[in-house]
Parts: sequence; structure tokens; C-alpha cells
Amino acid sequence: MKIGVIGGGQLGRMLSLAGTPLGMDFAFLDPAPDACAQALGEHIRADYSDQDHLRQLADEVDLVTFEFESVPAETVAFLSQFVPVYPSASALRIARDRWFEKSMFKELGIPTPAFADIQSQADLDAAAASIGLPAVLKTRTLGYDGKGQKVLRKAEDVAGAFAELGSVPCILEGFVPFTGEVSLVAVRARDGETRFYPLVHNTHENGILRLSVASSAHPLQALAEDYVGRVLDKLDYVGVLAFEFFEVDGGLKANEIAPRVHNSGHWTIEGSECSQFENHLRAVAGLPLGSTAKVGESAMLNFIGEVPPVDQVLAIADCHLHHYGKAFKAGRKVGHATLRSKDLATLKARIGEVEALIGKG
Ligand code: AMP
Repeated sequence: MKIGVIGGGQLGRMLSLAGTPLGMDFAFLDPAPDACAQALGEHIRADYSDQDHLRQLADEVDLVTFEFESVPAETVAFLSQFVPVYPSASALRIARDRWFEKSMFKELGIPTPAFADIQSQADLDAAAASIGLPAVLKTRTLGYDGKGQKVLRKAEDVAGAFAELGSVPCILEGFVPFTGEVSLVAVRARDGETRFYPLVHNTHENGILRLSVASSAHPLQALAEDYVGRVLDKLDYVGVLAFEFFEVDGGLKANEIAPRVHNSGHWTIEGSECSQFENHLRAVAGLPLGSTAKVGESAMLNFIGEVPPVDQVLAIADCHLHHYGKAFKAGRKVGHATLRSKDLATLKARIGEVEALIGKG
């Protein structure tokens, strides 16, 4: 079976690493000449709106999936005429737009911060008055790793903020005084069977995910599964979806969903029985899902800007390196390590050992 992937970054690369043993081949459509997934499959180097090359991809593969959600809706609609596309165009349309996704959470009874649609500075002034400050202004689409958003703390921050974000459609959200950030990675098969990985506790630095620690028997696991299940069923979703939550007042508030394999699920490659990458491929290909059970304690530490000296990373016990083969650049995710252990205290010590190597590249 040949899988077409829109996007050829590290997520595409890890999909190929998981799918190759299942007998799958891969083609990645990505305009970047140095797309790092090209080492692991065919690289169709073309723009996402290039219909000739989209048609070529559709003709070559059995199905198409995505490694990022900001794919133009027309691209998905075009491909869907010729080849099965998972997740569906309608799921992507909602997941790529913060207004659509928060409106869906509200409709499904999933708690969210207060939010408002912002089409102008006048809308922002009115929403800031009704929601109150602090609040977070975010572009409705195309934001990632903390880009395309601004925290508004005082009245002066509100003035001109719409133009600062580019005068594009935005959403204003009440600022959540969260005690933690968690995410739930789930997979849903074509027949509706759904499985959930354990909740993961996430730590961000400058808006970029730094550390994910998989939990054991988290008290909010059942609640998170309930919320995520509602979304998966509503979207008739096929594949892996990640749901990011704020932990607040002992409960959860929805932040956002990602309709794809997710950075906070990278630990599953070595830390669970079947990784998020393999389970995504099993789901879209109509194959039986694999176990999402954790094998011991597990955490993932991102390498941002550079990968520390490989020999030193590999000298740490039960530490697994993933080097994405990308050029090193400040603020860019270029690799990660999965740490495992039998107990949490050892896991924490191993995280500390890897952290001590960061900056020594
Ligand atoms: P996002 O791109 O929406 O995931 O936002 C990136 C990060 O900004 C989140 O992981 C939070 O740390 C922070 N953040 C986003 N929205 C809010 C909010 N409404 N209240 C407080 N912090 C937020």
C-alpha cells in the first residue's frame, strides 16, 4: 500500500518509519527542497495548490493523509475527488480554524475559555470589554508554536492589536489561570473504534513544547476521554487526533485540537505498545488498531535549534534519540529524545541528564 502525505517534515518522516515495517510505501508532497521526510520516501516537490502534482500524487497512492492542518481547503477538496483522504475535508476545515473548533467544543458541552470572533479592531474593543483582561488574541488560522498570538494584559495592549496580528480574522480568548497543560492523543478507526493514549503533561518554553511526560492513572483521564470522544464522533474522524487542554480548578478547559499525529505523542514510539504514528496509519488504512498501553514511565524532550552531541545523548540509559536530519536553526524543532524508566524518580533523573546536554551541541 502506498500512502500519500501532504507535508514532508519530521511527522512525515516518523510516519514512514512506522509504516515501512507494515509494508507501506510513502510519497510526500512538499514544496521545500530540503523536506526532511524525503530520506524516507518519494518527494513530490510542488506547491500545495499545484493541481498537476496533486493529481500525480492521487494517481500514485492508495490514500492521502496530512502531517499539518494548514492545508488549503481547496487542496483537500481537489484530492478527495480522486483518492480517499483521511481525516476528511470537513474535519480539517474545523480543526484548522480556532473559531470553528471552539464553536464545536461549545456545541458539544466541552468547557472552553470565553471566546469571541474578531473581524476588526472595533470587534476587539467590544470583546475585550466583555471578556475582560488579561485575554489572548490569536489568528483564527495558521498559528503554531505560539506564533500568531498576543497576550493582552492592559488597555494599551488592546489598542492596535488587531493590526499587529496582520488584520486577519482572529479569536479573543479569556486568559486561563491554568495549573497545568495536558494533552490527550486518540485514534479512531474507519469503523468508529476509538483508543486513547494516557494523558500527557506538557511544558512549553517561549510558546514551543519542551517536555511531555506521560501520566499513569491521571485523575482527569476519563473526563478527557469523554470530551475527546465527543469530538471524534462528531467529526466522524479517522486517524490520530490530539486534544490540548488547560488544567484548571480540578477540571479541564479545551484549548485546541490538532487533526494529526502530535509532538506530545512522540514518546509513544518507544513508550507505548503501538506508537501514534503506527496507529494513525493503521486507522487510515482500515487495519486493526494497536494497543495504546504505556510500557513503563516515559517522557519526551524536544531538541529546539540543535541536537546535543549524539554520543552523549546515547550514553544515557534507556534514552532514544530521534534526529530529524534538518538544518539547525534557532526556534526550530530538530529532534527529540524519549526517556524511559521503571519508576518516575529515575525518569526525572534521566530528563535532567538530557537537559544538562542542551546547549552543548
Ligand atoms: P496555542 O497555540 O493556542 O496552543 O497556545 C500556545 C500556548 O499559549 C499554550 O500552550 C498556553 O501555554 C498559552 N495559551 C494559549 N491560550 C491561552 C489562554 N487562553 N490562557 C492562558 N494561556 C494560553
